[in-house]
Amino acid sequence: MKEVILIKLGEIVLKGLNRKNFEDTLIKSIKRRLHKIGAFKVKASQSIITVAPVFDDIDMDEAVECVSKIFGIAAFSRACTAEKDIEKIKEAAGEYLEEQFSVTGSFKVEAKRSDKKFPLTSPEIAREVGGYLAERFPDVRVDVHNPDTVVTVEIRDGAAYIHSGVIRGAGGIPVGTGGKAAILISGGIDSPVAAYMMAKRGIELTAVHFASPPYTSERAEEKVTELLKRVSAYSGRITMYTVPFTKLQEQIRDKCHEEYFTIIMRRFMMTIAEEIARKNDCQALITGESLGQVASQTIGAIACTDDACTMPVFRPLIGMDKEEIIEISRKIDTFEISIQPYEDCCTVFTPKHPRTRPVLKNVIEEQNKIDFGQLVKEAVENVRIMEIS
Ligand code: ATP
Ligand code: MG
Repeated sequence: MKEVILIKLGEIVLKGLNRKNFEDTLIKSIKRRLHKIGAFKVKASQSIITVAPVFDDIDMDEAVECVSKIFGIAAFSRACTAEKDIEKIKEAAGEYLEEQFSVTGSFKVEAKRSDKKFPLTSPEIAREVGGYLAERFPDVRVDVHNPDTVVTVEIRDGAAYIHSGVIRGAGGIPVGTGGKAAILISGGIDSPVAAYMMAKRGIELTAVHFASPPYTSERAEEKVTELLKRVSAYSGRITMYTVPFTKLQEQIRDKCHEEYFTIIMRRFMMTIAEEIARKNDCQALITGESLGQVASQTIGAIACTDDACTMPVFRPLIGMDKEEIIEISRKIDTFEISIQPYEDCCTVFTPKHPRTRPVLKNVIEEQNKIDFGQLVKEAVENVRIMEIS
């Protein structure tokens, strides 16, 4: 029996004239993401997208898992196909639902007929298939008001489909329709969640990570690539830029007043990330900052960091509590990786008493004690690039 995935489009349907573009982008990302699992035919018609495996040996559990993480999909169903003949449909439904009907208590059948040439009306189809299933599974009751299982029969142009439930999709809008932005990614809990949230709004991601060997270890970098791998299950391919940050941090430590260490370091991060972002056609930066979480995330500190770049900075977690952020990180499977204890460059040389209300003029005065421009240039020239998917 042939199984397919029927995809219901999400917010896409609201986008009017852009709809075609959204749909095309979504189809492309479905194809690209399923490519790893096997060969599929992906086709849009009558407001759904049908994903059909080309060969029989394809792991549909894996395909369903993959589809459940693609943005732009509001809901989907796993269905079996049948020829558009009522007898064939009944038989296919009986066979397909056998396992499920051994545990379900009650059911009803709903039918949708978008192919109006099919000789039976929707109520007639529901009655025929319902009668057949009731006879074949005498232990399962028909209950039209509160059934355990709703069996749906859809008669579409290409074939008839039978399924027993709609699965909620990842929501959001297709990655790539919202432009491209660079996520400043650490090994912590917050930034992978921020990346996920912006990808959900259609943004394609590039990642920038600052590493300070030997103060930060190779394991710390591997942790970041692991995190990005998890994020890429949702966002698709990510190019990661690892920036050498040691020299720059040592210079700040040696030449600037301790209380400005963090803020100057963060200004470096924004300027360097912006430079990399611009070279990669990104139009914005993304960080995992949340207001008031630490000294460098007060309004004053954020104002001083933002001054170091001109691109818009998206901070999707700005109004969220840590608990809410953790909830998402568990959902996207990054939490367990994030809590592994490897030092981030932000935690080396941290001052005991950072400025929580820095004054921009003073920050810049401090920053002028080092050759900011030259250090940025060197760092950008020495980035390492890695593709994550
Ligand atoms: P996270 O959990 O994401 O590490 P955090 O709460 O630890 O965040 P900070 O360490 O102050 O907060 O960092 C704030 C933001 O700065 C991070 O969310 C991330 O976007 C960026 N950032 C911090 N460290 C790095 C790094 N090593 N490389 C790139 N970006 C970083
Ligand atoms: Mg951190």
